Amino acid sequence: MAVRKTPAMLGFAARQAGHFIVDRLRSRPSRPRQVLQYLRDSTSPGDPAATLAAMDEFARKRRFLMNVGDEKGKILSDAVRASGAGNVLELGTYCAYSAILMAHQLREGHVDTLEFNPENAAAAEQIIEHAGLSARITVHTGAAADIIPTLGRQFELVFIDHWKDRYLPDLLLIERHRLIKRGSRVVADNIGMFDATPYLDHVRDCGHYTNTNYPAHMEYSDTVYDAVEVSVLRQPFGDGEDG
Ligand code: SAM
Ligand code: MG
Repeated sequence: MAVRKTPAMLGFAARQAGHFIVDRLRSRPSRPRQVLQYLRDSTSPGDPAATLAAMDEFARKRRFLMNVGDEKGKILSDAVRASGAGNVLELGTYCAYSAILMAHQLREGHVDTLEFNPENAAAAEQIIEHAGLSARITVHTGAAADIIPTLGRQFELVFIDHWKDRYLPDLLLIERHRLIKRGSRVVADNIGMFDATPYLDHVRDCGHYTNTNYPAHMEYSDTVYDAVEVSVLRQPFGDGEDG
């Protein structure tokens, strides 16, 4: 998926390049490590809501974070509630913002989140521990395509938010391994700021899902257009039976 090159997006990319160079020259730790330190300095342990608010503050005042963010986070929270989850699978952990948001919504159940960058996964585990949610979230370190076939259970909600060219192949793998059942929701982030045509063609045209598109803004931006696609599985894959 290619990013849409709007003037707002090009301005954002130029600012990011500047921040990247400054952080490199000053040998700053990775963003997830900076976030962990910020949370430890500014929030009490065991408070998921304060942890999320502090991550939003970091992203607005210090450095951009590719979290789902507060605006699209409401769409994600609504989908988690509507799915009755249960069990959640996430592709792309980063700083664990969305994993914490979803686990915080669940009265019971679990979030399994997949992250192939070991540095991000290690920082995310510590951020989750700081939020007091280690018992509710498991971070799996590795490529989603390697982990999906090993999971062997079904999820009421799947949040897809890793590298954009993997959205469609990894959803096809989830379908093939029957990790979703009738009524499961598949929520895809960033399908407005990226050209997500192959992914959207699949969920909208394959006949298995009912889809709703939620226009929004890119995380922590008032100007860059983005959107979230929520796809409810109506007709399961395989032999058509759940379970
Ligand atoms: N969902 C997170 C949130 O909203 O807080 C943000 C995830 S961030 C946009 C994407 C993450 O996916 C990055 O940390 C990246 O390292 C990871 N990632 C990218 N491709 C992946 C893959 N194929 N398997 C597992 N993780 C991947
Ligand atoms: Mg995203």
